[in-house]
Amino acid sequence: MRKPLIMTPGPTYVHEDVRRSLSAEITNPDIDMDFFDFYKETCEQLQRLLNTRKDVLILNGEGILGLEAACASLIESGDKVLCLDNGIFGNGFGDFAKMYGGEVDYFKSDYQKGINIGELERYLENNHDYKIATVVHCETPSGITNPVKEICPVLKKYGIITVVDSVSAIGGEELQPDQWGMDIVLGGSQKCLSAPPGITFLSISAAAWEKILARKTPIIGYYGNLSLWKDWYQKKWFPYTQPISDLYGFRVAVERAIDKDMIARHARIAAAVRKSLVDAGLTLYPLDSWSNTVTAVNIPESMDFEIIYETMLKDYQVMIAGSFGFLENKVIRIGHMGENCYEEKIYLTLKALDHTFRGMKIELEEELHKLFIAYV
Ligand SMILES: *Cc1c(COP(=O)(O)O)cnc(C)c1O
Repeated sequence: MRKPLIMTPGPTYVHEDVRRSLSAEITNPDIDMDFFDFYKETCEQLQRLLNTRKDVLILNGEGILGLEAACASLIESGDKVLCLDNGIFGNGFGDFAKMYGGEVDYFKSDYQKGINIGELERYLENNHDYKIATVVHCETPSGITNPVKEICPVLKKYGIITVVDSVSAIGGEELQPDQWGMDIVLGGSQKCLSAPPGITFLSISAAAWEKILARKTPIIGYYGNLSLWKDWYQKKWFPYTQPISDLYGFRVAVERAIDKDMIARHARIAAAVRKSLVDAGLTLYPLDSWSNTVTAVNIPESMDFEIIYETMLKDYQVMIAGSFGFLENKVIRIGHMGENCYEEKIYLTLKALDHTFRGMKIELEEELHKLFIAYV
């Protein structure tokens, strides 16, 4: 069988140049001084990608490690934490905050829409005694991109430290952490950056460093302890041996993503995907704030995700994703992130979806892939 086209919302395609660099000859990353410079320059490239002058750290684990490290390092027992919750990841962030002793309140917002700024402003007027707030930039399971540009300044007004999970948005959505008052922004390697899974990175503001370094109680744990990294370059010391091959690959992926057309390409392709699905008579799960990196389309009544998935994979060699939690068997997700976000890949995906639906006697008003070509 041909290798399937993998169009899930991460992991995404790894470019040939990245794959080749993963096999480059290694050195001893704890001793070789050149490696410290390589790591530092990779952080500087990430600053360029993120449009930030803040410190950037790279950690060796998937996006969840970045999220957990931010919680572990910032949150002390009894700290009040506000978790913005309009989806599965937003809600789950609260579990991490509680694990490290946070006293969590949830600001709940409609799960089919972006966070409601007006309601958030009104809520904060009477409730702003929070040290930290957690925000999810793109809710990957439901395909919603939250308006972080408006959310973070509102929280900042009350001196609340913001931690933003931008794992599935970085590289595919506009991001200005410094202008928008984002204290910690974290990402992962396997979404829009299109490197293999296994690396996470965080940008950290002066206010976040201050909170981390001025704690009354020690940070629980070692791997998620960001304070250990404070002067890693001056000390020429890493808390543990770096996965040098992963970093070689990651560096090339970051440089590929520093492309001035990247955000516009995601916006253009995502808009064409949405319009094609809707004009063919399907409906999208989000009612507003549609993500430019992943589209969640409702599964038509009486259809089963497993059958759609199997047919697309076996008959058309395209792998798409379902979702999880309350969205299991409710939506199909098409990832259009990084290396997956090109016309030809989306064309094949929509053609496979079109043929699969027709084979199941689902009426479509027009052919999905032809609409896409007309709109893109
Ligand atoms: C993918 C993703 C993560 C990382 O999750 P993994 O299960 O490690 O892939 C974190 N947050 C968001 C919003 C994500 O999309």
